[in-house]
Amino acid sequence: MSDLNALAASIVDGSITVLDLTSPLHSETPILALPEEFGQTAKFALEEISAYDERGPYWYWNNFHSGEHTGTHLDAPNHWISGRGLDDVSQIPVQRLIGPAVVIDKVAEVAANPDYCLDVADIKAWEEENGKIPKGAWFLYRTGWSKFGDDPAAFANADENGPHTPGLTPAAAQYLSEETEILGMGVETVGTDAGGAMQFEPPFPCHTMLMGANKYGVTQLRNLDKLPTQGAVVIVAPLPIVKGSGSPCRVLALM
Ligand code: MN
Repeated sequence: MSDLNALAASIVDGSITVLDLTSPLHSETPILALPEEFGQTAKFALEEISAYDERGPYWYWNNFHSGEHTGTHLDAPNHWISGRGLDDVSQIPVQRLIGPAVVIDKVAEVAANPDYCLDVADIKAWEEENGKIPKGAWFLYRTGWSKFGDDPAAFANADENGPHTPGLTPAAAQYLSEETEILGMGVETVGTDAGGAMQFEPPFPCHTMLMGANKYGVTQLRNLDKLPTQGAVVIVAPLPIVKGSGSPCRVLALM
């Protein structure tokens, strides 16, 4: 049997589990809120066209409205000024949307400090224990934050100083961008950077360095607690929006 036939048979008989890492997309799906002087992304909204009625007696369908960066979504390299001129979301080679998952777990640290930032020492400690991060991997940052995903206020965790959600230090963002060959980074929060990252130097280091290195970001993941540290395969499927800077996407793990 070929490898692909064996894979298909294992999916059919359930010996490979297909796990959905995607947050459901609806009008209350949390979205990023920037300071009010900036443009804002849209919430997801359905607009009914017909529902087996006089507008369409045999069919139900909708138009939908959404930001590119609404819900579980992919950041393409051209999203950031550092990646200006690199691939838009329709140009990303599809081979680079599928890869082995590596999971770094900081649930306890984030529970103690919502502003926790993954640092280079954390990544090196992971590599000490598990080996070098493989080429073409999706680097998944398990923080436990998805438990707030149905409560936009708790998910944003903002006070008068802005949002408090976990992220990466500038040095860690640089390490992942320059010292590894990952496809990109997946997080449970609304964006790959920490809630307070506008104050970092550079601001939004994860966006700046990953996009500048032709790598991707994937946000608002769920079920990372069900993934092994290594061994799963992750498929990220954004819409091929021509000139798009990103897209809502379905993210699946095979394990
Ligand atoms: Mn984004």
